[in-house]
Amino acid sequence: MKFKFWGVRGSIPTPGPNTVKYGGNTTCIEIRTDSNDLIILDAGTGIHALAQTLLKEMPVHAHIFITHTHWDHIQGLPFFIPIFIPNNQIKIYGGIDPVTNETINRALSVQLQYSFFPIREAQLNARIEYATVKPGVPVQVGGATITPIVLSHPVLNFGYRIDCDGQSMFFTGDYEPQLNIYDPEDDEYAEFQSFVDAKWDEVVLAMKDVDALIVDSSYTSEEYASKQGWGHGTYDSGIKLATAAKAKKLFFTHHEPTRTDASLEAIYQNLLQTHPDSSCELLLAQEGVDISHQRQPAHLNPLRGSQRTLGSGCQHTSIDDCRLTRPALAPLGVALEEQRLAEHRRHRRRLERLGDQKGRLRPLAGEEALRIGGDEDHRHLETAQHLVDRIETG
Ligand SMILES: [Zn+2]
Ligand SMILES: [Zn+2]
Repeated sequence: MKFKFWGVRGSIPTPGPNTVKYGGNTTCIEIRTDSNDLIILDAGTGIHALAQTLLKEMPVHAHIFITHTHWDHIQGLPFFIPIFIPNNQIKIYGGIDPVTNETINRALSVQLQYSFFPIREAQLNARIEYATVKPGVPVQVGGATITPIVLSHPVLNFGYRIDCDGQSMFFTGDYEPQLNIYDPEDDEYAEFQSFVDAKWDEVVLAMKDVDALIVDSSYTSEEYASKQGWGHGTYDSGIKLATAAKAKKLFFTHHEPTRTDASLEAIYQNLLQTHPDSSCELLLAQEGVDISHQRQPAHLNPLRGSQRTLGSGCQHTSIDDCRLTRPALAPLGVALEEQRLAEHRRHRRRLERLGDQKGRLRPLAGEEALRIGGDEDHRHLETAQHLVDRIETG
């Protein structure tokens, strides 16, 4: 298995002389199995350059896994040229958004609306299929097993683990490790911390022993102080994850849009100095670079193992593994959504309490939540809470 970065930038493309080395395209990763199966992770603007290379190997059979539907991860889909050419087969995988109930086909159909693009969906000549992925339920593509796991972000976001040819990798998409939203003196703190700890264990298990871990590392720890709740990780949180998971190589990606090649390398050098004993190799994701793994003995993959199951829908072979990921097992969607809604209810209670304590905050929190979130699903209360916190501190 080998892979190549076609887009490593977060949020918005950043072409120009300051990003020539590491690249300015948004997220896209090409994976090739030893049998040449083509798996693509995310369809940011980097997928356009990838598409140019595929024109030499028609017909194209591509499997595109979308981590989430934020713009920088889907914007290249209408420019993935193979979708216009007959005899190509493109399968696009993604989740069902629990807030909108929309499946992944919306990511393309919305962009192909009359107002936004000159070609209609009906005019696509390739055979295009859509598939819904579910947390913890592996998908087989040729010899590769792709296992999704839900990771914390302001919209449904899947991290994907790929096991193939005795090697493994994990890509987080956009990911901010779950935070405890309560203050230590709050009654709910301890209960919520147990949820945070369980989620951490689940995430570490999902990426256990991978050869390559590719992690959203948008911010430095100093920058993160003012960006909590925005849905992105830090270099340090990436190293913490990689260390816990015993990953062999850690690729920092989703480079912040204002980050120049020079500033990226300055941060990188600092990381090497501050983590001299890192158990994994630290690397900056860079557009256009082929990453080939050495073939190594197959690692014990806790998400696969033998087919002996421990319970309904459970693929685990040890009680400990099973206990750690129990919240993500069947019925996965329901359990996760219940957690999400419970979390939102707690957010709301906290916001209301803050409003009671500081009357001036209540109108802003409410208005802002409604303006951004739009209705009673409170899906952006994290953002509203961040605004409240910013006002409180500044
Ligand atoms: Zn992103
Ligand atoms: Zn995102």
